[in-house]
Amino acid sequence: MGCGGGRGKRSVRGRATPSTTTAEEEEEEEEEKEEEGEGAPATEEDEDEDKGEQLQAARLPQLQVRGGTHPRACQPSMTPWRLLRCCQWTAAWVPVLFIAVVICWSYYTFVVELCLFTIAAQQEEGKAAIYLVIFHLSFVLFMWSYWKTIFTPPVCPSKEFSLSQSDEERYEKEERPEVQQEILKRVAKELPVYTLTSTRLIRYCEKCQLIKPDRCHHCSVCNKCVLKMDHHCPWVNNCVGFSNYKYFLLFLFYSLVYCILVTTTVLEYFIKFWTTNLKNTRAQFHVLFLFFVATMFFISILSLFCYHLWLVGKNRTTIEAFRAPVFLNGPDKNGFFLGWSKNWRQVFGDEKKYWLFPIFTSLGDGVNFPTRLMMETEQITGTNPHEHTRR
Ligand SMILES: [Zn+2]
Ligand SMILES: [Zn+2]
Repeated sequence: MGCGGGRGKRSVRGRATPSTTTAEEEEEEEEEKEEEGEGAPATEEDEDEDKGEQLQAARLPQLQVRGGTHPRACQPSMTPWRLLRCCQWTAAWVPVLFIAVVICWSYYTFVVELCLFTIAAQQEEGKAAIYLVIFHLSFVLFMWSYWKTIFTPPVCPSKEFSLSQSDEERYEKEERPEVQQEILKRVAKELPVYTLTSTRLIRYCEKCQLIKPDRCHHCSVCNKCVLKMDHHCPWVNNCVGFSNYKYFLLFLFYSLVYCILVTTTVLEYFIKFWTTNLKNTRAQFHVLFLFFVATMFFISILSLFCYHLWLVGKNRTTIEAFRAPVFLNGPDKNGFFLGWSKNWRQVFGDEKKYWLFPIFTSLGDGVNFPTRLMMETEQITGTNPHEHTRR
């Protein structure tokens, strides 16, 4: 499912800042604008973008951080604007690079300094071999899920959510918000859209020029609408949403496993270095430092992982936890709550054998979601609301 971010003149408006913590906030601002029926009053960053637009719009039809078009920003005919974009794109990868360096260093320390130079040197080859096998098993799963989280592109709404050419032109020319809403309502009638803005309007993305499916939000960093968007994560430089949420959870889980494994095995030698005459200055430095780094990462990731487990149990995204989805009968934080087991299966799928592997098994298509009301209807009428959520 390809997606090209915002279209036309508005596509350039979306910023490409690597500052990712404000992605959801901007989303909120954007929805407020929609709710007010306004166009899009320029923020400070928007104004910067507008200047760039005026200068570059003709030559720069599509520039975005992700989505395949940014490498053009590094071509020889580089203007200051393109140079800025290139710097932003590079800066966005710095956190990922930092994590990669820490992982490489921890691998070297555990395998070379601890297992080969310290444990094996004490004639404990069997113990070193067992440590190495267990370590590599967790390392492979950890790296696999991390890789999939980073490189699985976020999925955008399909073309059926975009306005037709004629509707788009009418929408653009129309200045009365109520008539614009009529156009959107007519198109939305044909779509599986059940959530609205807080003022009961159709959720429409001005930048991508499409009707937002349920649970879909516009990411200002990726400059595109992302299905079941959870948040934009700087540590993976990617949007976490429908396509990679399971991978993200597994990445957190295997990070914890990796940290526990490293901490517990290193602890013995951490103590020995201080209490016995086991001396190897270089290994000592690496092992001690590894112990502290793994403990620090474990503590910080644990709270995030617990929070996301709670979200999965409630069938909520991070965005929905802060702002309840609005249905016809009003906002409902538990609008997608189907029961703990069914909520879990929405993300991890029905087949238990795949739960621990970063393979896509989430239920649904990212557009149709069973709701609590559907579940209640199912109980009354005996119909199955899950049928339409499976491919
Ligand atoms: Zn959008
Ligand atoms: Zn994003």
